[in-house]
Amino acid sequence: MLQYQALNEYRALIYARKRRDLFVEQSQLVCREIGDGNLNLVFHIADQITGKSIIMKQALTYARVVGESWPLTLDRARIESQALLIQHSICPGFVPKVYHYDPIMALTIMEDLSSYLVMRKGLASRVQYPHFSRHIGRFLARTLFLTSDFALPSQEKKMRAAQFMNPEMCKISENLIFTDPYFDSETNRFNLLITDAVIKIRDNDQLKLEVAKLKEGFLTHAQALIHGDFHTGSIMVTEEDTKVIDPEFSFYGPIGFDIGVLVANVLLSFASHEGHTPDSQERTNYQAYLLSMIEEIWSCFEKEFRDLWEKESKEQMTVIPGYVDDYLLQVLEDTAGYAGCEMMRRIIGLAHVPDLESVEDPNLRAKGEQLALSIGQQLVLERWQVQGINDITSRVRQIA
Ligand code: ADP
Ligand code: MG
Ligand code: MG
Ligand code: MG
Repeated sequence: MLQYQALNEYRALIYARKRRDLFVEQSQLVCREIGDGNLNLVFHIADQITGKSIIMKQALTYARVVGESWPLTLDRARIESQALLIQHSICPGFVPKVYHYDPIMALTIMEDLSSYLVMRKGLASRVQYPHFSRHIGRFLARTLFLTSDFALPSQEKKMRAAQFMNPEMCKISENLIFTDPYFDSETNRFNLLITDAVIKIRDNDQLKLEVAKLKEGFLTHAQALIHGDFHTGSIMVTEEDTKVIDPEFSFYGPIGFDIGVLVANVLLSFASHEGHTPDSQERTNYQAYLLSMIEEIWSCFEKEFRDLWEKESKEQMTVIPGYVDDYLLQVLEDTAGYAGCEMMRRIIGLAHVPDLESVEDPNLRAKGEQLALSIGQQLVLERWQVQGINDITSRVRQIA
């Protein structure tokens, strides 16, 4: 195509049919739009004869959740396809394979992961994933360390950072995660039963000061090529396998942001089981599993990161005793802080999580939401005291 055009199922099918590298002339294609995200179109296209299938993701010129009144850059499709290629080269098998990218149509054709389940849904059904923490700890360590100044020559890292500037997508996060929830902004929405808790947050100057510092870190701390939207809806799983999707918010930012957002979303699932799992024994057991998952994610991340630091570092300063410990402690503090911000904004900001939204009884939902807000505030305020991941999980145990 010579000009951008938003696809529908019919046009997506025609587009795919023309790609002889993917489908043969005799193919009998069927196409379904399956996107459940906030921003983009996602088409599933399958050949009924051979069974071969692909995913075609196209960016729209506006945010799908809000409509045409919220324009969005198509450049996010480039960011996403390039980030997927880099992540694939650094951590093969952990992201869908990219088959084709079309800059004019803002469209990526990629591996179909329909046999996987979005992690968020698995957690809602209390599934346990025996390999997940190890996989995701490894993915985090490799993608973050190997795109950092420790692994890349400094000029190359700066070129990369320029290529992934992603200003418009960053601006969305800056507003929706760090600013709007703390003011009486039009974008906010929340369960009226928690109004008191929301007012307390908006009146808490100490909390807001800490959030402002975390925002400044998000704006300026170009440590590594982060995913930028690393919640449990951006991870697809089977019992055996783990894949990360949807890196359209990628940019050079703080390492603790990716880990923190993931931790927050596991904790949001934790809070949602107050509403979803009435049997108290069953609830306690699964919540304990979720906390052990967080501990294992961090310990796997830390182990891999230390290993890479030792073996893959190109930066001479990394031999200085104590440097890696100091660096990881700062990443852990950021992890706690960004986890706290993510938890609060998912309760009182624009974009909520299905985990809690699907709790129908507003009183029960409020219980989970209050819990999430309490945890979120403490993580932000007390992140300086955190010395190990257990300080985070034991804090959650105390609050819950
Ligand atoms: P958005 O950027 O709009 O959030 P996502 O990339 O998260 O879009 O995709 C939305 C949904 O489409 C996912 O939750 C998942 O159900 C489905 N999806 C996305 N990519 C794939 C894939 N490669 N294979 C199978 N399903 C996918
Ligand atoms: Mg998504
Ligand atoms: Mg997305
Ligand atoms: Mg400290």
